[in-house]
Amino acid sequence: MTITSCTVDLIEALTPTVNRILLTPQQPVSYASGQYLQLCLSDSDKRPFSIASMPGDKQIELHIGGAVADQYASQAIAHLMQQYQLKQPVKAEVGLGNAHFRADSTKPVILLAGGTGFSYIYSIAQSIAAAALDRPVFVYWGVREQNALYHASVMQQWAAQNAKYRFIPVVQHPDDNWHGRSGMVHQAVLDDFVSLEAYDIYVAGPFAMAGVVRDAFIEQGAHREQLFGDAFAYI
Ligand SMILES: Cc1cc2nc3c(=O)[nH]c(=O)nc-3n(C[C@H](O)[C@H](O)[C@H](O)COP(=O)(O)OP(=O)(O)OC[C@H]3O[C@@H](n4cnc5c(N)ncnc54)[C@H](O)[C@@H]3O)c2cc1C
Repeated sequence: MTITSCTVDLIEALTPTVNRILLTPQQPVSYASGQYLQLCLSDSDKRPFSIASMPGDKQIELHIGGAVADQYASQAIAHLMQQYQLKQPVKAEVGLGNAHFRADSTKPVILLAGGTGFSYIYSIAQSIAAAALDRPVFVYWGVREQNALYHASVMQQWAAQNAKYRFIPVVQHPDDNWHGRSGMVHQAVLDDFVSLEAYDIYVAGPFAMAGVVRDAFIEQGAHREQLFGDAFAYI
């Protein structure tokens, strides 16, 4: 883990409630795909956010927000915005968590995101493609409304690179224009795999989702030691 100041290069809206942030660390940092940073709002107020970028990228990318505007995200955005306007750095602890991608495994992979948990799986999906890993990878991204699928076309392009990659967006409350999967995202996985025994499974999203996923996936054969997600440490 590296504690560093970062300049805030960009804050842009991905949806009405989710922002994309680009930071440039002022000293070299190292992290693995799937790790997170803690944004230090003060010495006692540090908030974890998954790193959406890939190790080696010059800038660190974050996706901050949620379907419902809450203080966890809005206070972090306010802090970033204030420092951006003042041209002052923010402090971050970079390279935290144990749920990083295990590149040395040969097992097929399921990446499961709820809402802005997408940030976590986006970093992993990019790293898998950059390393040209030729094994089955299933990306499930669940959102409440379809307009929250802010990187759907990016992920469709990602899936088009390799016949073994699949992107499955799942909308909880679809409107009449939606022709894809609907319902809860973890249920889509349970419906698609008779057994989860053979898979490495990476999970990020609301804590309530993580709890449901852990119980239901183990019930359907997933091995606890092949189920990765830093949210599990919080529930
Ligand atoms: C290590 C760590 C990293 C974090 N990284 C980020 C980050 O990068 N960005 C950020 O903004 N916040 C982050 N958080 C905070 C928190 O995880 C997010 O606020 C949360 O994921 C936001 O969810 P949402 O509102 O986008 O999802 P929602 O819109 O609430 O849910 C999206 C989907 O998740 C599923 N789901 C939701 N609730 C349930 C349930 N009860 N049962 C089953 N399925 C459910 C459904 O399919 C739903 O459509 C992080 C927290 C930790 C601990």
